[in-house]
Amino acid sequence: MLPPVQRRAFLSTPIAALCAASMGAAKVKPAGKGRPIAVSSANGLETVKLAMDLVKKGHDPLDAAIAGVALVEADPNDHTVGLGGIPNEDGVVELDAAVMHGPTHGGGSVASLRNIKHPAAVARLVMKRTDHCLLVGEGALRFARAHGFPEENLLTEEARKIWLYWKETSSRNDDRIPPPADELDPEVRKFFGPDYVREYGTIHCSVLDTHGDLGCTTTTSGLYYKIPGRVGDSPILGAGLYLNNDVGTAGSTGRGEANLLNLSSFLAVEEMRRSGDKPLKDVLIECCKRIVATNRDKRLQDAKGRPNFNVNFYAIRKNGDFAGAALFAGPKMAVHDGDSARLVDCVPLFDEELKEI
Ligand code: ASP
Repeated sequence: MLPPVQRRAFLSTPIAALCAASMGAAKVKPAGKGRPIAVSSANGLETVKLAMDLVKKGHDPLDAAIAGVALVEADPNDHTVGLGGIPNEDGVVELDAAVMHGPTHGGGSVASLRNIKHPAAVARLVMKRTDHCLLVGEGALRFARAHGFPEENLLTEEARKIWLYWKETSSRNDDRIPPPADELDPEVRKFFGPDYVREYGTIHCSVLDTHGDLGCTTTTSGLYYKIPGRVGDSPILGAGLYLNNDVGTAGSTGRGEANLLNLSSFLAVEEMRRSGDKPLKDVLIECCKRIVATNRDKRLQDAKGRPNFNVNFYAIRKNGDFAGAALFAGPKMAVHDGDSARLVDCVPLFDEELKEI
């Protein structure tokens, strides 16, 4: 057994991440003849590369997606997913994740899970080793522990300092005193600095394999400084992801409450099914329009009555078409079309970028 410090370092490497994240994976079968596709959010370029590599070798499409996002779950520098995620208002990292598997139409998810770096892999075991779809909080942690997932502190020093600075500056009427500007940690300064645009993070990955089967996952640390126990769209089947193996797969990042109120990922897949051969980008723009139409709370509108937040969609049709869309311009998506991986623009509903308010 490695000493604790070395063991921790080992556990942070991608290979170790893959070991923990592979619990519950299916047996590899010979690859088929179809053209595989993998899509992800902008933080998923390495994710689609790994997922593609795996499906080309005959791995299950969901297992490929889970292995792909595990790279980001294990990355301490991504503050929106897994290790290094920005914590809740109490300084505790709470993770949400879900998976869906096309061939079985199975789904599993975990919410408000603490101390486990790979919630998407735990969600796969909820799907495979229980008769349920969703486990939360302490129950989800005990389930993960029982299946041998290693527990660790997910709050990195950098995320802790960011959280502390947020706490120290969030009220002028309490007893906390923020550090003098010249004593501010460089990483905290960068996080809150002028170049920083607070964006939603999270990672979604959808995969079409060489047999024409689909798998998808969404995994996140959720909103920064959220109320403990707040659960977003990511672990809710139909909201943060959905698939129908005969039709297509879709997932979303951005303001989770908007997706919860519209079951947007289900809407995307249903709209694909109902609309036949409607271009996929138009299907996703319909989902954006639905969010705009139902966003009736003035607190969530800009001066023109549009949402003052962004939501992004990523999708693959059963026939291999793929697309991304967003309410406002700017977001990109990662795509691997079997030949190469790249970032492409999500098609926006509104041509301008979201202005910070
Ligand atoms: N959708 C995520 C949530 O609401 C956040 C995000 O995508 O950044 O938890």
